[in-house]
Amino acid sequence: MFKKWTKGIALCCTAALLGTLAVGCGGSAPTGGEKKAAENQTQTSGDYIQTIKNRGYLIAGVKNDVPLFGQLKSGADKPEGFEVDIMKELAKKLFGDESKVKLEKVESQTRIPMLQNGQIDIVAGTTTITEERKKQIDFSDVYFKAGQSLLVKKGSPIKSVTDLKGKTVSTVRGSTSAKNIREKAPDAKVDEYATYTEAFQALKLGRSDAMTTDNSILMGFANEDPNFELVGGLFTEEPYGFGFQKGHPEWVNYVNDFLKELKANGKYDELYKKWFKEDPPK
Ligand code: GLU
Repeated sequence: MFKKWTKGIALCCTAALLGTLAVGCGGSAPTGGEKKAAENQTQTSGDYIQTIKNRGYLIAGVKNDVPLFGQLKSGADKPEGFEVDIMKELAKKLFGDESKVKLEKVESQTRIPMLQNGQIDIVAGTTTITEERKKQIDFSDVYFKAGQSLLVKKGSPIKSVTDLKGKTVSTVRGSTSAKNIREKAPDAKVDEYATYTEAFQALKLGRSDAMTTDNSILMGFANEDPNFELVGGLFTEEPYGFGFQKGHPEWVNYVNDFLKELKANGKYDELYKKWFKEDPPK
C-alpha cells in the first residue's frame, strides 16, 4: 500500500514536471478593500454561511509550501494542489462559481491563529485532527489519511526513527511532526523551520540528516528531487480535517455535507486521481 502510494506520487510528479497537469487557478481573487473588510469582520455566532455569501467570496487558508496539496510554484501567481482544488469546489457549492475564493497563504504555525482571528473562513492545510487542537478550533470529518515518516538522502545510514540518535532532523514549527519526533526520537536534535520548503532545503544543504513530517508531504519532495527517499515506514497516524473558528456549527455541517457530496458524486475521486495518480484508499 505504502509502496503503491509512493509510486502513484512519483507518476504524478513526473506528469507535473512534464507539464501535463492542467491546473486551473481561480480567476477573480478579491484584493485590497474587500479583503480588509473581510478581515475586520466580527464573526459572531449565527449563520456564518450567510456572512460568507454576503461577502461574495470564500476566504480559504491553504498551504503554499506543500507539493500536491497546496504549493506556490516559482513563477506562478496562485498555489495549486488537491486542497486548493477542493476549496474551489466549495466556492462552486457556495456561489456556483469556483473562482469565488480568495486563497490565503497559511503556514503550520499561523493557521490556527488565522482561524481564531477570523482572517480565514476555513483552513485546508494538511492539518491533523488532534484532541489538543480541538480545544482551539473545530474540525470537519476526515478527508485524507497520512502518517509521519522520514526523508533522507539516498544511501543515508538512517533507516528508521531509532537511527536518529545524535542526528539533526528538520521539520516545521506548529506541526504535529515537531511534537511527535521529540517523543519518538528524544536524542535527536530537532530544527524547526517556518515552512516545508525551508525544512527540505536544510536537508538538501546537509544542515539536517533527515526531514520529518507526513508521508504525503515527504513524497512530494522526494519526487521533486530523486536523490531523496522515504524511510522508516509510518510511525504516527495523521488524519486531515478542514479547520474552522469555533462557534459556527452550521458552517462545519455545511462543509461535512459538501464533503459527502464530493465523495458521492465522484469529484473527490477525480481530484484524488488528478493529484495522486491512483484511486483513494477504500
Ligand atoms: N499533518 C501535520 C500537522 O497538521 C503535519 C503537516 C503540517 O504541518 O501541516 O501538523
